[in-house]
Amino acid sequence: MKLLEGKIALITGASRGIGRGIAFKFAEHGANVAFTYLSSVEKGQELEKELAAFGIKAKGYRSDAADFKAAEELVNAVIADFGTIDVLVNNAGITRDTLLMRMSEQQWDEVINANLKSVFNLTKAVQKPMLKQRKGSIINMSSVVGVKGNAGQSNYAASKAGIIGFTKSVALELGSRNIRSNAIAPGFIETEMTGALDQKVVEGWRDSIPLKRGGTPDDVANATVFLASDMSAYITGQVMNVCGGMLT
Ligand code: NAP
Repeated sequence: MKLLEGKIALITGASRGIGRGIAFKFAEHGANVAFTYLSSVEKGQELEKELAAFGIKAKGYRSDAADFKAAEELVNAVIADFGTIDVLVNNAGITRDTLLMRMSEQQWDEVINANLKSVFNLTKAVQKPMLKQRKGSIINMSSVVGVKGNAGQSNYAASKAGIIGFTKSVALELGSRNIRSNAIAPGFIETEMTGALDQKVVEGWRDSIPLKRGGTPDDVANATVFLASDMSAYITGQVMNVCGGMLT
């Protein structure tokens, strides 16, 4: 059963990892997919071709989600190319991990801008078309770290906690217009972002997870398909943990 047939989705940061997994699942479920990338230009261009093989419309845009004006221009370009936007997935994100004692202002600002300001930028830009059509689903990629905190990630945890407050506020503001806003809080998902970590730490994490494994981009993508689809028509303002039971 195709859950997203004919829907038009915009996914930020789909050149790698979770975003790439979401783009494939969306295409598999019949959505037309607009997506962004920033530094991985070749991977982004390649993805456009790979997605088109599903028989849907796919287009990649090089756009910095942290840049307010660029986000506005991106949404205008997607509307010109696709007609409208039914689903926004704010997935783009970065880490600049270090203890607070060593954290520079730049490391703080980069993470807050790429992870949190980006969500404001894109949500504000899609608000108009979604209000016009009186429907929409906005899905923001938070993290379990945003719920419980994590030593060495105060910038990242703050950005992900901020996303949750923003998600709930938007759900309250736009619910009467049939625009839903939910967050996903992935636990430990094995991607390039986590590939940079010490393997001993990674083993320790796997072992401490009730389901005894790290998550995959597909695990997160499946939850994203659900929140994007009409199967979740009565769900808004929620945080869905996709963490193998890590946060219970
Ligand atoms: P990843 O493999 O590092 O991929 C990050 C993606 O975001 C890339 O496609 C990157 O594009 C894009 N991106 C970064 N900054 C951007 C910007 N300013 N504008 C546009 N695109 C940008 O990360 P991931 O593990 O898939 O994580 C995806 C999301 O899930 C992030 O928000 C992350 O915080 C969240 N998350 C991940 C985990 C995990 O365990 N992996 C857990 C909880 C939450 P380019 O390569 O083209 O620059």
